[in-house]
Amino acid sequence: MFKRIISAFRKIVPKKYKTLNQAIMDTPENTKKEIKIAKVGRKYQVINDNRQEGAVWYSEETLRKVFPKKRSKLIHTHTNGIKELPSANDITNMISHYIRYNKDFEAISVMDAVNGKESGRIGIMLTKEAKEYVKKNFDYDTLDDLDELLDSFRYHIEQRLDRIFFETNKILSAKGLSDSSPEYKKIRHNTIKKIMYKYYKDSLKLKLKFVPQPGYKFNKETMAFEKIK
Ligand SMILES: [Zn+2]
Repeated sequence: MFKRIISAFRKIVPKKYKTLNQAIMDTPENTKKEIKIAKVGRKYQVINDNRQEGAVWYSEETLRKVFPKKRSKLIHTHTNGIKELPSANDITNMISHYIRYNKDFEAISVMDAVNGKESGRIGIMLTKEAKEYVKKNFDYDTLDDLDELLDSFRYHIEQRLDRIFFETNKILSAKGLSDSSPEYKKIRHNTIKKIMYKYYKDSLKLKLKFVPQPGYKFNKETMAFEKIK
């Protein structure tokens, strides 16, 4: 009986990997579902407790364990949609991590569904201006207040992104592009990414760095990691 209780409460020790790529490759369905990884010291460990297409969950408790460690940082994968830029949720999480743990950097790894490889990585940094904005605008008394502030900031970004999508559609139809034409989807995607990037850079003051993986290059025009032929 006592033994059974102990085993039920036994800590699950996450597997540690030497490289980020190993941690990703060892996780099933890595081109479909997102993965959340923490770098702790020199090792990488998968910290998500729930994964889905386009989303990943992890607990605040895990972060409380990971973040106090020196040079610890978070990385997650993007598997579909607009893969080369952080989402409204990603940015809000970064702000939360800055406020709670003084972290100002996170990374995204972009997955190539065609061959299951990592095509590139994106480093996202909060600039000095972004940090000043957060300090000024996220004044809270309780953690519930903070969550509310973060929720409304996420909503604010989402509203802005919705407007970008809407305006892009208008631009494309003004150009006479039919939404059933094969280029439409591609041009729409590229246009959205460019406007989003500008918004993140100029309004939210985020600094983004695009680092292609071996065999890939970053195309500034399409804002995508492309395989070198
Ligand atoms: Zn993301």
